Amino acid sequence: MSNVCQCCSKKISISKVFCSKECQEEFFQSAAISIPKQFIKRLYFFCDENEREKEISEFAKRHNWSERIVSKKTEDLYKQYYEHLSL
Ligand SMILES: [Zn+2]
Repeated sequence: MSNVCQCCSKKISISKVFCSKECQEEFFQSAAISIPKQFIKRLYFFCDENEREKEISEFAKRHNWSERIVSKKTEDLYKQYYEHLSL
């Protein structure tokens, strides 16, 4: 029997929930981060790629969050909100 890491889905022993301390931190930080839908919309519909990176970086800094995690979560939310729409 085995479990999978709640963060990266790697196989781990049944007694564990995360494969590493980094994954554990990432999971909880990601859960704590809230990103307004309006912000996602602006990033993907009104910004080019460079502007989007800059906006994400500033947003992460302003809240003292990891830029990598904010960026990942932004992408996930975008998919969740808008990927079903044909653009
Ligand atoms: Zn992991």
